[in-house]
This record gives sequence, structure tokens and C-alpha cells, in this order.
Amino acid sequence: MKPDVILCHYGEIGLKGKNRSYFEKKLQENLRKTIKRSLPDSFISVVRLYGRIIIRLNEQGQNEISTITAILKNVCGLVYFAPAIQTKQEMGAITQLAVEMMSVGDYKTFRVTSRRTDKNFPVGSQKMNEDVGAAILKTVGKAVNLGKPDKTCFIDVVDGKAFIYSEKIQGQGGLPVGVSGKAVSLLSGGIDSPVSSFYMMKRGAVATFVHFHSVPYTNKSSIEKVREMIEALQSFQQRATLYLIELAPIQKVIMTETEAKYRVILYRRFMVRIAEAIAYKIRANALITGDSLGQVASQTLENMSVIEEAISIPLLRPLIGFDKLEIINKAKEINTYDISILPDQDCCSLFTPKHPATKAKLLNVLTEEKKLNVEELVKTALDSAVIETFD
Ligand code: ATP
Ligand code: MG
Repeated sequence: MKPDVILCHYGEIGLKGKNRSYFEKKLQENLRKTIKRSLPDSFISVVRLYGRIIIRLNEQGQNEISTITAILKNVCGLVYFAPAIQTKQEMGAITQLAVEMMSVGDYKTFRVTSRRTDKNFPVGSQKMNEDVGAAILKTVGKAVNLGKPDKTCFIDVVDGKAFIYSEKIQGQGGLPVGVSGKAVSLLSGGIDSPVSSFYMMKRGAVATFVHFHSVPYTNKSSIEKVREMIEALQSFQQRATLYLIELAPIQKVIMTETEAKYRVILYRRFMVRIAEAIAYKIRANALITGDSLGQVASQTLENMSVIEEAISIPLLRPLIGFDKLEIINKAKEINTYDISILPDQDCCSLFTPKHPATKAKLLNVLTEEKKLNVEELVKTALDSAVIETFD
């Protein structure tokens, strides 16, 4: 008795009218694409039923249920899902399948939890619980425990069909990638920025990535790492674009023309300006960084505000209140941690002063920046962009 469908549930709070149908369609499309990417010939259809999405599996899909389950855990917007058996709305068929499902497995206590969304079905949920429960008791034995059962027999009666399952698997939650528009994510090769990208994807944003490097003054290791990170993040967002930008020409000018202690802040101001230009070009509405308050010199409140002053697009910092350990744990969960800790040559460590300013005054930074031809430098950097796509 193999599950032939997967019942997908999403969060419904705050989803009304037009938004709701947009959300559902996006989730449906993402589910289809995500499974197709790993197991193209495993399903017959992905359809919307009242308040749920049903993935109908073919024989191959039924045999590879654990792979499909692992894939679905990465689809943002799914609150939980359940491999289930579909049957007709008829008490005899429902009871028989329920008894069959509850005959396997090592457990002591059980309960039946029915839900009747389809009011055309004449049997109420309480009556289903009682009748199916009695049949399981009679055939399988076991004891009923309504409070804390070892195994639950779920029965969903919906849209002319009935579904029977015993396991609800927790999903990512959040919103389907794509419903919140685009954002440009500054990806460094460190631990934090891929995690911050993930959190924005989880809230429905599509991330386009920018990485700044100092090749040929450094090797290409940070570029390799960023490519690998994006591949890992493709578990959540299938398609992505990466802009590789040469920062060295800007760093050289900053080094020769400005006071050492403001260098990192000036680098950062250029980074966000260039990212902002990319955002306007691709119609993105925000930038994302992996900043966490107080973690390093450039991440004090004072310095973050001086950096942000260079741009007018919102700069989002999903990790601002996270501890390093919390970020590391999440990085492990989303499989970017092992890539992040590989050795690399970071563009910023190359030309970093010994004592960067931790409380830079905007006026002083602006005075230093006046020595530079900002517009020209940004334009040259943008012209150097190498664009890679991940599909
Ligand atoms: P991370 O672990 O993400 O590298 P970090 O703790 O090392 O962060 P910083 O190096 O100060 O902190 O970088 C802060 C943020 O600035 C990063 O999270 C990233 O979003 C952005 N950033 C830093 N360096 C680069 C780079 N070379 N290319 C793109 N973005 C960068
Ligand atoms: Mg870093």
C-alpha cells in the first residue's frame, strides 16, 4: 500500500482574495519545477484543491517517496505535507484503507482525526472518527489514546475525494519564492550572506547575487565558493543570476587617495552603490546583506548608517539580531556552511587597515569620498561585470 499522492498544506493567515490565488499558483508552479529538476518523471500532476495542493505520483514517484519528501522540505511556502492515499468518498473504501494503513508499524496507541471540508459527504467528522476508530480497534487491536497517540490516522474529505495518511512532515514555512519580487543579495563567500539570502527567499523574494572580488590581486577561490553556494541555494530557488564585479580598481584608488581608517567603509559604500545600480537595472526593490549587529567593525550601528547613506534603495539585513552560533546552525541546515569555511582570499581582507574606524562620522567619510570620482568608478566596475546564470 504505497502513497499515491502528496497532500501539501500552506499557511493561510493573511492570504485573502487575489493575493491568495497568486500565492497558490506560485507555490504550485514552484512545486512542479522543484520536483522536475531532480525527478522529472515522478509525477502525473500538481493540482490545486480547496486549500491544498495535491501532487499525484506515478509509479516511479511512489517508489522514490523518500527522495521526493527530501525535495519538498526545501520548498518555501509549504507548512507541512503528507504522503497519502486517495480514495473515493465512501465509508467502506475509507475504512478499509484506514485499517490497512494502521495494520503496519510498531505502535501501541492511536487515534483517528477526520476533517470534512466537503459538506456534500453525509458523514460528519466525529462519526467518521468513531466508526473508523472502531474498525481499527476490532481488526488491528491497539488502544485508543486521544491525547497523545503514537500513530494518528488522518482522514481528509475534500472536493469529492478522500485522503488517508498517518504522517505530517514539517516544511520550510514562509512564502513561495517569487511572490515578494526581486532583491539583490551581496554574497561574500563568508558564512552570513548565504544565510541572509536564504531568509529572504523564504519570505518569497527572488535573489540575484553580486560578488565583489579582487582578482588578480587575490586568487579566484572566493568566486568558486560563491558559485558553489548558489548551487546549494538552488534547492530553494531554482534559477539564479550572479554578477561578478572587480573591486580592485576601486580599492586601489581608495588606498592611495584616502585615510586608512575609513577604507572598509568606503569599500562598502561602493559595494552598495554598485549593487543598487544592478537592482535598478533588473527592477529589484531591495539589497540584502549578511550584517549582524556588532559582529565586526563595519557592522556597528554608526557604520551601517554611514554605509547605507550612499544609496536610496532599502538595504535589508535579515540577520541583524542573530548570534553567530544561530547563523552557523542555519548555514549547516541549508548546506552552505561547509562551503563557507573553505579557505579563500577575500577582497576586503586584502586592503584592510589595521585599525578600521568603528564609529565613523558621516562628515569625515564624505570628506574622504570627495577625493574620488565616485560616478566614474561605479561605472567602470559595472562595465567589468561578468554575468553567470544558474539554471
Ligand atoms: P559574511 O559571512 O557574509 O562574509 P561577514 O561577517 O564576514 O559576513 P563582512 O565581511 O563585514 O561580514 O560583510 C558584511 C556583508 O557585506 C556580507 O554579509 C555581505 O552581504 C557583504 N559583503 C562583504 N564582502 C562582500 C563581497 N566580497 N562581495 C559581496 N558582498 C560582500
Ligand atoms: Mg565576510
